[in-house]
Amino acid sequence: MVRNNQQADSVIASVDHIKQLNSATIYKVIEKYAPISRVKIANVSKLAPASVTKITRQLLQQGIICETARQASTGGRCAISLAPNTDNIHVLAIKIGQKTLSLSCYNLAAEQLTTKKIKIKSEDEQQLLAFLISEIDNFIKKQQKNMGKISAIAISLSGLINPKKGVVLYSPYHPLVNFPLANKIEQHFQLPTFIGNHTRSLALAEHYFGASKECLDSILISIHHGVGSGIIIEGKALLGQNFNIGEIGHIQANPAGRQCHCGNFGCLETEVSDRVIVEKVAIAIKQGSFTRLSLDSLNIEKIYQAAEDNDPLCQKIVEDAATYLGKAIAILINLLNPQKIIIAGKIIRAKTSLLSTIEQCIAHQVLPNFQHKVQIETSLLEPDTTLAAFALIKQAIYEGDLLQQIHG
Ligand SMILES: [Zn+2]
Repeated sequence: MVRNNQQADSVIASVDHIKQLNSATIYKVIEKYAPISRVKIANVSKLAPASVTKITRQLLQQGIICETARQASTGGRCAISLAPNTDNIHVLAIKIGQKTLSLSCYNLAAEQLTTKKIKIKSEDEQQLLAFLISEIDNFIKKQQKNMGKISAIAISLSGLINPKKGVVLYSPYHPLVNFPLANKIEQHFQLPTFIGNHTRSLALAEHYFGASKECLDSILISIHHGVGSGIIIEGKALLGQNFNIGEIGHIQANPAGRQCHCGNFGCLETEVSDRVIVEKVAIAIKQGSFTRLSLDSLNIEKIYQAAEDNDPLCQKIVEDAATYLGKAIAILINLLNPQKIIIAGKIIRAKTSLLSTIEQCIAHQVLPNFQHKVQIETSLLEPDTTLAAFALIKQAIYEGDLLQQIHG
């Protein structure tokens, strides 16, 4: 009896799942080819015309798509076309940074409608949660008054995240350990909520909207307070069963290097992060190295800009960092054979030295056949953009997890 019930439940679950996937497929086809008729949707999606009619009716009722001007078909008859009703659905995308909370409202065309930045004040997880809820509440109330309802929330932050369960396993900047963040936000606001590691979400955002838009296999390397990566294979973010693929900051770059916060020695992060580069320049200035920069006004932006302007000290330090980075990137290319590597972070201000050094490493350390197939580019998005969190909502729509829960 129990068994039969379980079987029945699993059949219902799989039918629901197929419905979700079919809806997502149809939405993607409409988004890509709009304006498009139902007949063409059926042709492109390979779904039965009856399913297309049923699903598009539901998407119309939800306000996710709309009927557009009639389009002449080849047979002389007119067919109503469909297009995404992107401006009708609004979502909230949040970045929890080290010191700053950024909140933005987007429509489904990835257009940012409003945005706000606030300094984070919190001592422990309960304070942080109360702060988040209060700021999200203020933002949503103001947003809804001016522009209409919010349909979903996504949050990106640094650290180890389980996006399936919505749990922050570890955060380097905030007191969150095994904390069910998505669940808490979802319960409070009664809105579908997604969370993800910021660098991996940024990789997804580059894939949907930025530098890797035209390719299916790409790796984003982000240099910030640490070093991380996000890997996209066949158009999907590589997560695995343990959810945290891409921690390249802890590849050993210099066996004789300093101890990393992870406990090991000479990790890539101990040679390449923004903080380490500022330290290296400061030490060199104290030792009398020639540079246009002075100790009292030193910051990472000035160092990267000076490297780009051929300041000898800054250029040398960026090239040393890029050599370690290039070694790790060469390992990734040999392992994964991607079409594109995207470098993100303030370091891309020093683009000339950075890219030429990385390209030299690739020329010497990557399989010749792979070298010619990979392009190295800099990110098109701001490192802290809330578009990273928005990409989590886009992903949920494309994978069928969200489409049936939202409406305009
Ligand atoms: Zn480490």
